Amino acid sequence: MNTRIFNEFKKRFGAGAQLYASPGRVNLIGEHTDYNLGFVLPAAIDKNIYVAIKPNGATNSRLYSYDYEMEVSVDMNGEKPEQQWACYIYGVVQEMKKRGAKIDAFDCVFGGDVPLGAGLSSSAALESAVGYALNDLYGLGFSRQELAKIGQMTEHNYIGVRCGIMDQFASLFGQKGRVIRLDCRSLEYELFPFEPQGCRVVLIDSMVKHSLASSEYNVRRSQAEAGVAVVAKHVPGIESLRDVTMEMLDTYKNEMDALSYRRCAYVIHENQRLLEGCEALKKGDYEFFGEKMFGSHEGLSREYEVSCAELDFIADIARHTDGVLGARMMGGGFGGCVINLVKESVCDAYLDDVKSRFNHQYGQTPRTISVVIGDGARRVEIE
Ligand code: ADP
Ligand code: MG
Repeated sequence: MNTRIFNEFKKRFGAGAQLYASPGRVNLIGEHTDYNLGFVLPAAIDKNIYVAIKPNGATNSRLYSYDYEMEVSVDMNGEKPEQQWACYIYGVVQEMKKRGAKIDAFDCVFGGDVPLGAGLSSSAALESAVGYALNDLYGLGFSRQELAKIGQMTEHNYIGVRCGIMDQFASLFGQKGRVIRLDCRSLEYELFPFEPQGCRVVLIDSMVKHSLASSEYNVRRSQAEAGVAVVAKHVPGIESLRDVTMEMLDTYKNEMDALSYRRCAYVIHENQRLLEGCEALKKGDYEFFGEKMFGSHEGLSREYEVSCAELDFIADIARHTDGVLGARMMGGGFGGCVINLVKESVCDAYLDDVKSRFNHQYGQTPRTISVVIGDGARRVEIE
């Protein structure tokens, strides 16, 4: 893929481009914890967006999408382009300029193998690849942390997606064989080993689109906030669910509605599962880690209630298959993928089993995507 992007640049715009890559991501555990100021555990994957880029000395930048086979010419001092894919690049440039960067016009060709809209965050991969590339090319001196913020603000201000910072963070800070425990309150992070010998990480796409996700997301947010507000009336210094323990929640249970209690209990438990899971990773105990993944799915399905029948169907087969160490829905819910940690020896048989049973039940065959934990944003050398 990287050679194809590089060669396309040569063909279109001539020699001398530099090549950069930034990956998509998975999240092993820690769902709906980010906006409750808890922890998430993402990792970069071996699927990337590649950007070949070179200053062009002109007024306009020329952007070519390899996968859409489309070129646009954009004045970075002018209006936002029409095409959404071009807005990601335009947005990154604007966010950098807001922070004092001077960026001359450039030519670029980009494309990659992060599946679009599958919950692997191809958009963060694109922002991070472009941000990393411009930063290196023009010597702008932004830290990886700042580049993550620039990507996040690109989504907020130029795409209209009010996302957290996890996806960009994973794309920029990822390392081969490591997961990133990100504290969403302080933005401090710690890497943990993730090298399960003889195991694979596989995503199974439920093929359900998240149509409920944004409305229900707001409902969950306010239910969790309502629970926090009850505890905060009694306990000083409570600002978010991060400060609330199960003991506090149980003490004031009678003052909150049953749904708020369940939502809060899920988040508190999910943070616990994640922290215990990280301790297990230090010891290489992937069986224990997998159990926490199953627990996460159970909580998302029963306590937080953001799963759907198709996701539960897949997670249920996983739970009853020997050699599947863990599985859970990944992402906001109401559709998207189930992430699985599976022993290599049973993996093909397991995936065949899920596909045929899912097809029998829902009349569609889910696609599966195998991923390996890979490196974050980087420059790529071409021989
Ligand atoms: P995801 O969950 O994959 O991030 P999004 O809808 O947030 O899904 O982002 C997908 C969008 O990002 C696409 O519609 C496109 O505008 C842009 N994009 C991602 N990957 C590519 C690519 N390889 N080529 C062109 N545009 C891309
Ligand atoms: Mg996205």
